[in-house]
Amino acid sequence: MTEAQTSFQDLAQLCRDLEQTTSRNEKAERIGELLKNLKRDEISPAVRMIVGKIFPDWDERVLEVSGRTVWKLLPKQRQRQAALLPSHLTILEAYRNFSEIAAASGPGSRTKKERVIESLLGEANSLEAEYLTRMLLHEMRIGVVEGVMLEAIAKASGSNITLVRRAMMILGDLGEVADLALTGGKTALEQVTIRLFRPVRLMMAEMSYDLSEIFGEHKSGTAFEFKFDGARIQVHKKDGEVRIFSRRLTDVTRSLPDVVETIQKEVRADEALVEGEVVAVGPNLKPLPFQELMRRFRRAHEIGHAIHEIPLKLYLFDILYLNGRQLIDLRYEERWALLSEICPPEILAERIVTGDLDEVQRFLAKAMNAGHEGLMAKALDSPYVLGVRGRNWFKIKPADQLDLVIVAADWGYGRRSGWLSNYHLAARDEASGTYLEVGKTFKGLTDDEFEWMTRRLQQLKISEGEYTVSVKPELVVEVAYNEIQKSPHYKSGFALRFARIVRIREDKRPEEADTIERMRTLFEKQFEHKGRPI
Ligand code: AMP
Repeated sequence: MTEAQTSFQDLAQLCRDLEQTTSRNEKAERIGELLKNLKRDEISPAVRMIVGKIFPDWDERVLEVSGRTVWKLLPKQRQRQAALLPSHLTILEAYRNFSEIAAASGPGSRTKKERVIESLLGEANSLEAEYLTRMLLHEMRIGVVEGVMLEAIAKASGSNITLVRRAMMILGDLGEVADLALTGGKTALEQVTIRLFRPVRLMMAEMSYDLSEIFGEHKSGTAFEFKFDGARIQVHKKDGEVRIFSRRLTDVTRSLPDVVETIQKEVRADEALVEGEVVAVGPNLKPLPFQELMRRFRRAHEIGHAIHEIPLKLYLFDILYLNGRQLIDLRYEERWALLSEICPPEILAERIVTGDLDEVQRFLAKAMNAGHEGLMAKALDSPYVLGVRGRNWFKIKPADQLDLVIVAADWGYGRRSGWLSNYHLAARDEASGTYLEVGKTFKGLTDDEFEWMTRRLQQLKISEGEYTVSVKPELVVEVAYNEIQKSPHYKSGFALRFARIVRIREDKRPEEADTIERMRTLFEKQFEHKGRPI
């Protein structure tokens, strides 16, 4: 350890100060001050530790430390602590320890991890131990989300926040962005471009509830594509090597050898970054429910079987990089033209370009009949905006709805604390006259409605646990959902995917709510257009 290294205590003290600051601006200022005084090789570790994300999303390393392990080791830390002089822990040393914890794998890794944690906490004073613990558990609770850190980086380096954000969307690593901004400034940030095999943050869509609003928004025209109900992937290809990343930017290449093969065979480019959706399909090539696809992703180990059991179909819909050229600033139309030059139509999303509402309706019906989820509407003149949800892309999904009864509710936390805000939804079982749970949701209500619900449900209270209040089955809500799934978890046997409350139906009595029987019928009906799981 050299004299010049910054002590971990400085960082821990900053975390404590940030915890007591509510102003976002002030938080960014304070972090910026620390960053400016760090040595170059301390910047990236410090940034990652402050946000409590020790490794970037795409990094395969993980700490994998449980709360139980840490709590077990903490008392020992306190005993030793009493006999210790002030801490000499540095930022770099703390980070090295984190890397060592992540590196411990294979048999005996638990013990190895524990040994490192124990010695790390042993060196720390109590302030440091507090924040080391939170870092180990990815729970900083100091209100420094990614956006605040990006502002801090912009302030500390005197860079434009838009440039800083853009670099983050491409690199996906706050540490690296901070390092670039503070050491290379504007020039370095401007030079950040897509690199193959480093996943980028993908563009996102807003929900559209009214087709005519789309035409109002997209002045230069709209392309409509099938919206597939699968998993989004970005595929990087360079000189025959292919790597695939999930929506959460983790490397899923090993689960998808068949997709790798398709890309190698069908995508005619030495270097490309394309994106699309993979869908699990049944024997007749009809899409299978989403659950089946997830089974396939979980099977990285015995993938040989799964390939045959759950075949996948690939649909590409965008291209971000081609043979040394970054394409995100091109218009959608131009990108699509390049994509279709290098791919055969069988692996592209089905689409039309139209300004005619009737034609859109017909195309939507076609997508639904083919077992897909709906349509995407994309502005022809829009660039590819990394990591941003906006109105250049709309999603169109005719949702299904059920009337369900609330049988319990959990107390909320964070912004929803003080409200009963997570609702247990149940359908009526005609045979027994009881209500059986089919899902939970906290989505869809306004603040006023949360207030109202909290009061109303307390009147209906039957019993109360630590987090959950059970209520008389009385209150009916209209619930939208995307799919009915089979559930081993609920006694009803069913679970709703993406349930959200559309309306509180005080006008309905619980006896009028939908039944388990009806859910069974709807569940079966899903297979008129979808393939059936085996
Ligand atoms: P969201 O992620 O909420 O913006 O919803 C859009 C999601 O729909 C994407 O993340 C994709 O996984 C999925 N999707 C299905 N088909 C398409 C398509 N043709 N274009 C873009 N996204 C699609």
